[in-house]
Amino acid sequence: MTFRECHGWLPAGKRAAVCFNIDDVHPATSRDEFEAGGELGNGALGNVERLLARHPQLRVTLFVTPDWRLRRLVPSRGFLTRMPVLRERIHWAPVTPRGRFRVDRFPEFVAYLNAMPRTECAVHGLHHAHQGPRMAMEFQRQTRDECGAMLQLAREIFRKAGLRHVRGFAAPAWNTPPALCEALREAGFHFVTSARDLDTPIRIDARAAGAGLRGAPLLRPTWVRGIVGDEAGAADARGGLVHFPTNFQATSAVDRARAIIEDGGLLSIKAHIFKCGGGLTMLDGLDADYCDYLDELWSQLARSYGESLWWTTLAEIAARCQGAAQWKC
Ligand SMILES: [Zn+2]
Repeated sequence: MTFRECHGWLPAGKRAAVCFNIDDVHPATSRDEFEAGGELGNGALGNVERLLARHPQLRVTLFVTPDWRLRRLVPSRGFLTRMPVLRERIHWAPVTPRGRFRVDRFPEFVAYLNAMPRTECAVHGLHHAHQGPRMAMEFQRQTRDECGAMLQLAREIFRKAGLRHVRGFAAPAWNTPPALCEALREAGFHFVTSARDLDTPIRIDARAAGAGLRGAPLLRPTWVRGIVGDEAGAADARGGLVHFPTNFQATSAVDRARAIIEDGGLLSIKAHIFKCGGGLTMLDGLDADYCDYLDELWSQLARSYGESLWWTTLAEIAARCQGAAQWKC
């Protein structure tokens, strides 16, 4: 796949943009393996709410998993994972039964998300689980039709739940194969976020070389090209798929954020809704320390750049890209 510039993504008068995106939101509570939103304002979502209250310019995209099934983030089935063939066909750790965390079964969770100010929800996989060694990487070798069926089910669950959401997607564990991109566009999704790179030095032409889609521009949104039906460069106006990179997280230095802004890019900040659980500690889990860091970072950026910084969401940028492409044609 290749990437082509989205013209007109930044509004006039703005020098750069900031967005904040949080993965793995689902209705599990501290009685489960992860507190991932199920305790509403008393849990991890309370951290998000406090950040929104302290930073009136801030806007958030929550990537919500429609029917979360992953219980562990590290393997626990030793012997079976060494059996040829079988090892690819079994879950390497116990998974939660289908439907246990289906969001339509948690009306209070849905009502809470729907009421969060300046917040949009988007789709984060279907179950967030896969057989074999890459346990959280839900999209691997599925066909386009199989991907399409999973996307349809995901959106049906959101619709049934009454969860307001935008047409955006983040693949669990970053992996976003071409069949998934094709299915996303076919299903009418407007954007996907995949490439994460926290190490490549910031330059205007930097390309992502980390997890997910490699080679994607690291500082700005781009059209995903080279997927079926994308010929002749006319796809943008028909409703193309916009890709967003992730270029910043809890472990990144303030200087990296400033460099992205100085280069006129999109500062795309990622967090995961829980810090610890399932046998793993997430470096970008949204705990008190990460919230304090973001508090300080955003206050500094607001002081330095003021009105010239566009605080936005992925759906809003994608809408600008789509609008500019249609206008051009
Ligand atoms: Zn995830």
